[in-house]
Amino acid sequence: MMTGSLTGKIREKGFKGELREDEPLHRHLSLRVGGPTALFAVPDNVQDVLALLGCLEEEGIPWVVMGGGTNLVFGNGGYRGCVLRLGGEFTRVQREDDLTLVAGAAVSLAALVNSSAEKGLSGMECLTGIPGTVGGAVLMNAGTSSGEIANVIDEVLLFDGRESRWVQGSEMGFSYRSSQLPEGHIILAAKFRLTPSTREEVRSRMKTVAARRKESQPAGIPSAGCWFRNPEGDSAGRLIDEAGMKGERCGGAQVSEVHANVLVNVGGATASDFLTLARKVKETVHRHYGVVLQEEVRIIDG
Ligand SMILES: Cc1cc2nc3c(=O)[nH]c(=O)nc-3n(C[C@H](O)[C@H](O)[C@H](O)COP(=O)(O)OP(=O)(O)OC[C@H]3O[C@@H](n4cnc5c(N)ncnc54)[C@H](O)[C@@H]3O)c2cc1C
Repeated sequence: MMTGSLTGKIREKGFKGELREDEPLHRHLSLRVGGPTALFAVPDNVQDVLALLGCLEEEGIPWVVMGGGTNLVFGNGGYRGCVLRLGGEFTRVQREDDLTLVAGAAVSLAALVNSSAEKGLSGMECLTGIPGTVGGAVLMNAGTSSGEIANVIDEVLLFDGRESRWVQGSEMGFSYRSSQLPEGHIILAAKFRLTPSTREEVRSRMKTVAARRKESQPAGIPSAGCWFRNPEGDSAGRLIDEAGMKGERCGGAQVSEVHANVLVNVGGATASDFLTLARKVKETVHRHYGVVLQEEVRIIDG
């Protein structure tokens, strides 16, 4: 367990952002489950990140980055280290030139998609309705069957614990819902190369995407989106549905009746409820089809 002196040491290094001890994680996660993290830190700029990571390294304290917490699961026991969520300067979107937008990692993806529409820039319509931040979307290569964020990424600003540098999108190792971010690195910002269009056309395409999502996704109920990755050439939702798991419950966690690959919190669920339900789903699908489903959500073990 950490003591107040750790926050003192971090402040001594010049950290100006927010620091909270024993912060309940369920407040920050779309699933609304998860125990406390020993330390929750919100660095406002690169100097803060440097000060924080320097101190955590000296003290041998593990850390993990979160964005919007829409694809993350922490256990009932929470996290024994520091959960870091970028804020301040990382929440800005700027236009670099006619076709390029630069967004801090803490910008909400919805704000970025809206900003591109406002400017009549096309390429992000397929991301309409995906919650979370730019950092999480880049790390996860967020997208849908009609496109993914990697398609519009020009460069990504990475921090390696000591310094930051821009790398080409092509160096990020993007594939279906994943990237190859080197261990211990943080995404600070990304540059997006878009194509010229008009505000009306972009808005109209966004509307179509939003309508399609409305039909196929459970709305207004806590979830982390799709729990499992689609197996090559198949759909995890179809397998779970046809294995008869729709509506299956474990405590307050349920396989959505609307979309079988979405596990929802129907009230009072714990992280363990979700992990137990997910294990049951995996076992059932494996028994029926011989397919081993892999998690798309990121599960952080204590
Ligand atoms: C209702 C709902 C619908 C969804 N629909 C979709 C969908 O259609 N398509 C889709 O792809 N996803 C979807 N998702 C999943 C999720 O929204 C995306 O994966 C999203 O991009 C995650 O962003 P986040 O900021 O919330 O990341 P988080 O959940 O906070 O983190 C996800 C991963 O990214 C890492 N990370 C976050 N920020 C950084 C950073 N700055 N630097 C390094 N690593 C970082 C975290 O450590 C973690 O491993 C949905 C989720 C919900 C709740």
